[in-house]
Amino acid sequence: MTNAPELKPCPFCGGEADHSMGERGDGTPWPYIECVDCGASTEPDVWNRRADLCQPKVKPLVWVEATGRDNPAMIEAKTAAGKYEILQDPTSGWLFDVWFYGETEFHIGSFADDEAAKAAAEAHYTAWALDLHKQLFEVTE
Ligand SMILES: [Zn+2]
Repeated sequence: MTNAPELKPCPFCGGEADHSMGERGDGTPWPYIECVDCGASTEPDVWNRRADLCQPKVKPLVWVEATGRDNPAMIEAKTAAGKYEILQDPTSGWLFDVWFYGETEFHIGSFADDEAAKAAAEAHYTAWALDLHKQLFEVTE
């Protein structure tokens, strides 16, 4: 690490960057750089090449229990894009239904368990956020 060049501020939020150590799938060490403020991370040799950064980490959705509804299984996550809701609907055999309420309202899908439902909402939000990020930062790939 001592021969590493000085790290530039985070290209996404201006935060301070720091060295971290993870682990690859095969157990070998995986050094990376991570923003201490927003959590953006990448390979050490890529960090300072801001224009190459095209895989920012999207903040995970924060699920809370929705209030004022009859269904106790219902949770929601509010984002800049809109609101995600997961509820169990007896008419669909108590599957976990994922709805999105933004500029438009639509059904993302029905899932057998809440983890799959959350993952589907997460995937939808991540795609939206990365697309917006590319528009704002003119990232080239
Ligand atoms: Zn940052």
